[in-house]
Amino acid sequence: MALSAISVGGMRTVLISGGGIAGNTLAWWLARHGFRPTVVERAAGQRSSGAPVDVRGPAVPVVEAMGLLERLRAAATSVTGARLVDAGGATVARFPMGGDRPAGRTELEIPRADLAAILHRATADDVEFRYDDTITGLTEDAGGVDVTFARGEPRRFDLVVGADGLHSAVRRLAFGPEARYVRHLGVWVAGMSLRGPADDPHDVLLYNTPGRLASVHPARGDAMAAFIFRGPMVDGLDHRDLARHKRLVVEAYQDERGWRVPELLDRVRAADDLYFDSVSQVHLPRWSRGRIVLVGDAASCVSLFGEGSSLAIAGAHTLAEALAAGGYGAAFRRYETVHRRRTEPKRRAARYVAGLLVPRTRIGLATRNATARVFARVRPAAPAR
Ligand SMILES: Cc1cc2nc3c(=O)[nH]c(=O)nc-3n(C[C@H](O)[C@H](O)[C@H](O)COP(=O)(O)OP(=O)(O)OC[C@H]3O[C@@H](n4cnc5c(N)ncnc54)[C@H](O)[C@@H]3O)c2cc1C
Repeated sequence: MALSAISVGGMRTVLISGGGIAGNTLAWWLARHGFRPTVVERAAGQRSSGAPVDVRGPAVPVVEAMGLLERLRAAATSVTGARLVDAGGATVARFPMGGDRPAGRTELEIPRADLAAILHRATADDVEFRYDDTITGLTEDAGGVDVTFARGEPRRFDLVVGADGLHSAVRRLAFGPEARYVRHLGVWVAGMSLRGPADDPHDVLLYNTPGRLASVHPARGDAMAAFIFRGPMVDGLDHRDLARHKRLVVEAYQDERGWRVPELLDRVRAADDLYFDSVSQVHLPRWSRGRIVLVGDAASCVSLFGEGSSLAIAGAHTLAEALAAGGYGAAFRRYETVHRRRTEPKRRAARYVAGLLVPRTRIGLATRNATARVFARVRPAAPAR
């Protein structure tokens, strides 16, 4: 699509920290409205695969307007259901998910990095990308923001956006330390590729014991294992300490003999790559300060129990539209008013979803399973894809 070249209220240059879901979506829409976005991304390049995330609700019209719906459909997993299993692998209850739902609702499930890569490919020709770098300093004055980088030369921008996820550098530099804003939900998540297909290519399998969930997701060929378990915050945890992460997962599940858990734990012990993080939410009283604003998980992470990827797309679009309509102060206020109405209910729901997915007690688990059996019987089966 040809991009317009109008100047918007003298605000032309926008630095976006983070080339993920929110960052790429925002860059696309800002370029379309005549801004000159630059994206700085810490990773060395765009990767593929990753944990499957959703495109649904308010994100669907946004990606459709970007002309990406068919590409996203083609990249979606072929998952049509989620199945609770018992220790012997027998089905407790099955729920339909994904695809084109009844009443014309589209819900696509796509590996996170594939979604980011598709958004990136749509954006790359019109936006400057700087990989393998990160912002180290932000100094704002009346006319702009002076930015320093770990590797690149210092530069000045009209606006700076933090789209750099749960552990946002922009949030830390502009609003203060992460501990003030990031709240651990008392749950940890670990995930890894099984580097081969799942036995069941269409169903996500979920096995619970009190306070613990182990699952296998078929993804798009290379199945993903995930471990979601309850536990307190670990002080001083280094986000790059793979050996420690592996130990924490193994300790949490080592007495578990049911389903595929012993075999999956062996895979964890042997893994050279394991995603591991606390399941957290971000609570910020304001999403902007002067010429600096946050979007996506950096502003309002609802956790993996919410709809973070769809919210990231919808929030980025709302921010771009607000900026295109007028000055940054009013635009940031408008964006926050509109988008908080979407994120707050999802944030509250996330705690409830956590309780359903990882019940704490034996009684809680039995009650959840009994309810799931009844609920599964009254839900229609998903159409085969
Ligand atoms: C295991 C797991 C499962 C999930 N499942 C779902 C799901 O089923 N459905 C759903 O809707 N959501 C899910 N989510 C949440 C979803 O992934 C996030 O809400 C979504 O990715 C947020 O998008 P974002 O663009 O704000 O952040 P991200 O996608 O995290 O992107 C942030 C980008 O910023 C970059 N970055 C980070 N720090 C810096 C820095 N200092 N400088 C420069 N760049 C930086 C990162 O490399 C990344 O590219 C899940 C999350 C996890 C962890």
